[in-house]
Amino acid sequence: IKNIAVLTSGGDAPGMNACIRAVVRTGIYNGINMFGVLQGYQGLINNNIIPMDARSVSNIIHLGGTILKTARCLEFKTDEGMEIAYQNLKARDIDGLIVIGGDGTFTGARNFSNKYNIRVMGIPGTIDNDLYGSDFTLGYDTAINTVIEAIDKIRDTADSHDRLFFIEVMGRDSGCIALRSAVASGAEAVLLPERHTSIDELVSQLASGASTKKSSSIVIVSEGHKAGGAYDIAKQVKEQFNHYDTKVTILGHLQRGGSPSSFDRILGSRLGFAAVNEMLQGTSKAMVGLRGNEIKTTGIDEALSRHSFKLENDLLEMTKVLSI
Ligand code: ATP
Repeated sequence: IKNIAVLTSGGDAPGMNACIRAVVRTGIYNGINMFGVLQGYQGLINNNIIPMDARSVSNIIHLGGTILKTARCLEFKTDEGMEIAYQNLKARDIDGLIVIGGDGTFTGARNFSNKYNIRVMGIPGTIDNDLYGSDFTLGYDTAINTVIEAIDKIRDTADSHDRLFFIEVMGRDSGCIALRSAVASGAEAVLLPERHTSIDELVSQLASGASTKKSSSIVIVSEGHKAGGAYDIAKQVKEQFNHYDTKVTILGHLQRGGSPSSFDRILGSRLGFAAVNEMLQGTSKAMVGLRGNEIKTTGIDEALSRHSFKLENDLLEMTKVLSI
């Protein structure tokens, strides 16, 4: 293998830049010519492929987002789109592609590699932590830190005014951000897509807090919760329980941004380093991930077909006990 390209695709996540830096520098250290693809698979099709040297990734380890940009690209799902992408890589003799993204990104890489003679490696980059094969995905830790910083501020006003706050956090299918944020911010309750909590149950929990003189309460709602978003839930709760003045905050896209935490910088560096080394040893159609503080590879087919329940059971139990 002589030439490797790297791209970021799907939603951006803090730590992607640290990872790009590690990929580029590990490749160069091993005598590989490195390329960056701009705007994910769209850049492969548009021939937006640039050579990268060690200095192209200077001063980016602390930056959120992705210097390579990202995009959602429907054309790459078509045979014609893939053929154009392949020809653009072939013209530069690029025989390895490293993709940083979520399961859509991995599906694209697998299909591409099934069709053409290109080695691919996937790196899990998404704030949702919803991928099999890695205990933590890139950006997840930073997103939790961002959420708890926001909740700390909301708690000040909640407490001063005797308010009940419903705070909606990201996670359409995965309650990972919600659960960890709940523990780290001392929230009174958390609503997760993976677990059903009835409004009655929630109301009785809040009422018991109020009866033991809690001056305010914070409920974290994962955006994928079956009973609705934070506004719907707040409305349903208010119909039965009117002890506090009720407010809703939707944190939204601020959860994606910001300087990566030390954890995500180190994880991005480790995963980037490992992905290149694996590819140089002949591995393809695999992802690298963190499992029990070791970097392990998982076949992309396995990663895409299997699903793990990622919510930590001890945290689930703890939230109820610690918020009495
Ligand atoms: P996130 O979890 O942040 O949403 P993701 O990688 O799952 O990240 P997607 O938008 O689902 O994000 O996928 C990223 C890109 O991967 C798509 O825009 C598309 O270009 C490509 N892709 C997804 N599915 C396929 C597929 N079946 N075949 C080819 N390419 C695909």
